[in-house]
Amino acid sequence: MIRLKLYKLLGRLSYLFCLSCCAGIFATAGCRPLTPPMELPVASSLVLDELVIYSDFQLPENHRLLQDLEDMRAQLTTTLALPASNEPVEVYLFKTPRRYHRFLSRRYPKYPERRAFFVQTDTRLCVYTYWGDHIAEDLCHEVCHGYLHAAVPRIPLWIDEGLAEFYECDRGQTGWNPSQYDLLIAARDKTDWQPNLKRLEKRTRTEELTELDYAESWLWAHFLLRTTDSRTALLQEYLADCRSGTGDIFSEKIRQAEPSYVENVLLHLEQTGPNGIK
Ligand SMILES: [Zn+2]
Repeated sequence: MIRLKLYKLLGRLSYLFCLSCCAGIFATAGCRPLTPPMELPVASSLVLDELVIYSDFQLPENHRLLQDLEDMRAQLTTTLALPASNEPVEVYLFKTPRRYHRFLSRRYPKYPERRAFFVQTDTRLCVYTYWGDHIAEDLCHEVCHGYLHAAVPRIPLWIDEGLAEFYECDRGQTGWNPSQYDLLIAARDKTDWQPNLKRLEKRTRTEELTELDYAESWLWAHFLLRTTDSRTALLQEYLADCRSGTGDIFSEKIRQAEPSYVENVLLHLEQTGPNGIK
């Protein structure tokens, strides 16, 4: 159900700011106070269940992308066997890149320039971006982070990014990400690149991730969700462990279940064509 509301600009967003990530951004510092973010685009808003989209322009209420974003939460919860969460994810959507980058430069001056990013505070899950050519990809990626963090607040970085890459292209229908596939195939052909989950698991901040790391994270997510039920079940069990703060690191879990998992993920990459079909 979509409800449209108009909001006045509110200076109510003073809060402590902790962790963050996305589209390559990760706030490494601990908590720090924020002054009221007066540049936020809150002239209007759409409420789609637990997804609240604020913008500085009138959004098309029945836009397919917005409906897909709302549907993604149920899809992701089912696929990953996550408990339902009613924690809201707030999206702040600027009409133009100029407004967005002006906001970024004032609010997060040390952040690298990105088209979109996700921020998790101690009480809120927020996405910032602008309405541009990549809006579908960017929103799906960042809102996916929001949904994941609502259910698994301490989700490890490699699978957090892998799943966001999985859901960013076709809303997770197939999880096929052609640009990441191309990157991996090129790396395999030009260098000695090999999948290395243990190395990925050691990355805890997004600024540590290379483009190839994002691509490999996507490959692991695709391998786990699009090959066998037992691999998907292993991922579901792992995410449940992450929620409870128990269990092994994933590379150890999968090694016990499937000793040749590294060879198998590479085989999965090589046997799948550029269109995502084996
Ligand atoms: Zn991300």
